[in-house]
Amino acid sequence: MSVRTRFAPSPTGFLHIGGVRTALFNWLLARHFGGQFILRIDDTDQQRHVDDALGRILDGFRWMGMDWDEGPDKGGPLGPYFQSERSDLYKKAADALVASGHVYRDYSTQQERDADREAQKSHKVAYRFREKPISDDDRARFEAEGRPFGLRFRVPLGRSMVVHDLIKGDVEQKTDEIGDFVIVRPDGMPLYNFASVVDDVEMKITHVIRAEEHLSNTFPQLLIFEALGAELPAFAHVPFVAEVGSKTKMSKRKTEEYARRGIFVLLNQYIEKGYLPDAMLNYLARLGWSLDASQEIFTRDELIEKFSLDRVNSSPASHDPDKLFWIQGEWMKKLTVDQKVDGVLPYLAREGLAPDPVTPEFRKRVASVVAALGDRLKVFSDILTLGRYFFTETLTHDPDAVKKRLRKDGVPKMLAELDEVLATTEPYDLATLEKAVHAYAESHGHPMGQVVNPLRVATTGQGVGPGLYDCLVILGRESCRARIASTIAMLGSGT
Ligand code: GLU
Repeated sequence: MSVRTRFAPSPTGFLHIGGVRTALFNWLLARHFGGQFILRIDDTDQQRHVDDALGRILDGFRWMGMDWDEGPDKGGPLGPYFQSERSDLYKKAADALVASGHVYRDYSTQQERDADREAQKSHKVAYRFREKPISDDDRARFEAEGRPFGLRFRVPLGRSMVVHDLIKGDVEQKTDEIGDFVIVRPDGMPLYNFASVVDDVEMKITHVIRAEEHLSNTFPQLLIFEALGAELPAFAHVPFVAEVGSKTKMSKRKTEEYARRGIFVLLNQYIEKGYLPDAMLNYLARLGWSLDASQEIFTRDELIEKFSLDRVNSSPASHDPDKLFWIQGEWMKKLTVDQKVDGVLPYLAREGLAPDPVTPEFRKRVASVVAALGDRLKVFSDILTLGRYFFTETLTHDPDAVKKRLRKDGVPKMLAELDEVLATTEPYDLATLEKAVHAYAESHGHPMGQVVNPLRVATTGQGVGPGLYDCLVILGRESCRARIASTIAMLGSGT
């Protein structure tokens, strides 16, 4: 039997990292067994439709490198892969269930149901809809007047059902606690539990791996599988991703609140920040899954080889941005300078800091900056904070650095002397500059720190950064001299 897994997002916005992790577990299992991973779009609810949400979802999958074997753009033998295009299949299945007596037409009105609910309040048990017999005359009348009806599943009473969940273990539910549920609304719209089962059956899904919030849906779904005479897939319900250091579910609704604390919940926020797909994949796989607690770094192939559902933790894992950042750093270290250049160029371009098209000289300059920044560059967007001054002639001084390094007696004079050193150093290269600055410090009796630090702030505006001589070389003689001049002017004007 070939393993077939699926991820079935509703196109309602950006991907939540918890959803991405669930998709990843599906993908890893399919790849582990050499099976198929299917992407199916749950878009029956047009009211919740968000423009281009599908594009964002697909982009997210492509970015993560989680390829799908069947689904949007690709098609496949058991499509279509959009629920909105599968109405005929739902209709056929609903008709079959009506014919077999598992499903009935419910002519009740909202008012009647509200009244029923009200009447049951005193019974101190939750309201559950149950079929009310209707006379043949009434039925004929309803049909004649074209009264709208929903289709409801006739839940068999007195049974106890068990799901053998591969993550959660055995979970039990009594059918008496499940009301007769709607499978198709009066307007003809098939509801999630029903459409999902029809799709899982038709698409020959062997493992339903999804968010744990769907565990309770599994029981009505089991009844539908059974009624359709279909084989049951295995179920695995993945615990949610909790907020940092807490047990509360991370919610998309709090995206802005988290962002104010520097925490991201949406995949696209990480993409925009310049995280690496391999790091994200590694982090999300490890969030709630472990092989051996001491191993944190996993390659894609290793994850495919080692992944199994029985090692997924049954309780929620808290999001840990520090760990993600560390994993990201480890993956960054594996990149060549050229790969990093490719990663940072879009950020420079977006801010108008790169020529269009990018010239070979500019690429070379970016490569020098990236090499000089080394492991300080943790995410690609860091280029804009750590390396901006290499790409703009406007010198922005960090006020703290100015206060600490430049607001001292004798600094303007020293900077003027250093300008002279830069003007006359030949050749203007790293080793010669280093020697010249040393010689200057020695001959003037200045400790090195008192020369190097002010010179750094004067030329880069920053108190910290890559090696000073790397900076001086990359910036070039003219630019360094102009920056020193503007720093002296700034100090003189007292601003
Ligand atoms: N559209 C559902 C969701 O996004 C799919 C649930 C399932 O995988 O069955 O939650």
